This record gives sequence, C-alpha cells and structure tokens, in this order.
Amino acid sequence: MGFNNIVGHERQKEFLLSLFNNERMPHAFLFSGQEGIGKKKLAIEYIKHILCEKGIGCDGCRPCQKIDHRNHPDLLIVEGEESIGIAQSRMISKEVSEHPYEGKKRAILIDRADTMTREATNALLKTLEEPPPANVFFLITSSERDIPLTVRSRCARVAFSPLPQADVEEYFMKVSRMEKEKAHLIARISYGSIGGGLFWAEPDNFILRRKLGEIIIGKKRGFLAVTLIAEKIAKMDKGVSFYLSFLQSLFRDLYVAAHERETSMIINRDIKDLIEREGMDLKRIDSSLKKIQETIFNMRYNVNRWLLLENLMLHIMR
Ligand SMILES: [Zn+2]
Repeated sequence: MGFNNIVGHERQKEFLLSLFNNERMPHAFLFSGQEGIGKKKLAIEYIKHILCEKGIGCDGCRPCQKIDHRNHPDLLIVEGEESIGIAQSRMISKEVSEHPYEGKKRAILIDRADTMTREATNALLKTLEEPPPANVFFLITSSERDIPLTVRSRCARVAFSPLPQADVEEYFMKVSRMEKEKAHLIARISYGSIGGGLFWAEPDNFILRRKLGEIIIGKKRGFLAVTLIAEKIAKMDKGVSFYLSFLQSLFRDLYVAAHERETSMIINRDIKDLIEREGMDLKRIDSSLKKIQETIFNMRYNVNRWLLLENLMLHIMR
C-alpha cells in the first residue's frame, strides 16, 4: 500500500510524509537523482496520499485506483518525446488556473523536467511564481543542473541516492524470482537502480548489451553493424541512457583490467572475456570516456540521437 510498494528511499518517504501529515506541503517539489531509481514511482505513490479518500494512499478507493490507471482528472502527467515544449507549458498554466475536478488538490507531474525548452521553462516559471493554491507540482529529473536555478529555487528539493546493491539483488530474487547469480549481476550493472535492473532483465536488452560490447571491443566490427545498433538504441527512449552508462562502465572496466591487479572490481562480469582480452592504453580509455560524457551531454539538445550514437561508437571503437 502506498509507499510500501517502493523499495528503499526511507528518508525521502519520511520527509514527504511529515510534510503531508503536518499540512506543510510546498507547492512544488523537485525530485532529482539517477535514472531508473524510482523517483517517478515514489511521486505517484505520494500523489496517491494527497488525492486518496482516506489520506493514506490506500490503493483501494476510487481516487487511488484512478491514479493507478492514470485516468484521475486531477493528476496531470507531462512528458515530452524529445523535449517538453511551450505548448505543454501553456496547457499546464491553463489547467492549474481551474479548480481541481474531483478533489481538493491537483498534482502536476513533469517527467524529465530537464528537457523543457527555454520557452517552456519561462512559461512554467510564471506559474511557479504565482501558483494557484490547489496545485502541487512534481518536477522529476536525472539531470538537475540542466534545470535553471530560477526554477529550482522555487521547488522543495528531494534528492534520491542509489539503493544498496544488496537491496536491488534481493528485489530481483524476491519480486522477479531471479536466480541469485543473475540477480547479483543485474544489481551490479544497474548501480542501485531498480528501473535500470528491470531494463537489463529484459532478455533483448541484455543481449544487445553484449553485442554492443562486441562491436566496441570485440571482433564484430564494421560500419554497418555500428549503424544498425546505433539506430536500434536511438529509438529506445529511456534505454539510451542505460546503454550510455553501460559504455561508461565498460571503459572503466577496461581500465581496471589493464591497470589494476584486482579484477574483482570489474562491473560487467558477464563479458569479462571481452574485457580481459583487451589491453587498452590509458590515453584511449580517457579520450573514450570523455567522448561518452560529451555524448551524454549533447543528447539533451540534439534531436538526432542516432547520428550522435553512431559518431560516438565510431570514435570509441578500436
Ligand atoms: Zn485511497
């Protein structure tokens, strides 16, 4: 029920509940932290508390059920395909000027708030400066620094940290009934993120990960292979960021393999064969990591993700 549906983040839950129970709710929250860590899920459960008939996020009343089915008229979820534009911001201002339809409050959840265009941000800022009283905003982001300070300063910030690896492992053993060894690997490669773990638990995604590794450091090469895999990943929406962090961890592993005696620190153990075969020099590892970082940054402002990925892969392939 309510927050119990979510693993971890106890401190954040406690903080949010104390605001709610003491009726000290701010009009806007900023939930920040790594991708796939459960920020949006927690926001939704919190919104259940706010709109629930019993005020506890009971899961059983009509408002709670409507939230679960994403058809509660007082829950507005905004997310852009590539970015959140001015039309969406205007829609928000119009909506919040009305009274809530069913309850006393309305919740506006803006997912990936860092993808708002400048115009959209400015329009939202006006709303946040003089917020109509019945509304609570939830801005969700995995890249807080891409949200202008003017917006950030008007929100109560709730920062999320990765879950301990053991918790993620336990989650996959209990909830997904995974074998211990597999759960251990999934927990390791998803860096304390259940969302990341769920992504890698999908066989297709997992297989593509190895393929990507083989293209970058293995024997499968060629421009065609690069183009195809870049296209496939670019179309994946949130998946892109998981593959980009995989590439980061792959190059860190290459560093460990080539420069440390202790190879137990290798994250991507399932492709250890590829990693250990490769004796990459530090300069290349460094320049590849920089290029990956640059791509992660440019991904936010560039519509052509396919081209960006392709460029990246051609740069970091040996
Ligand atoms: Zn309820």
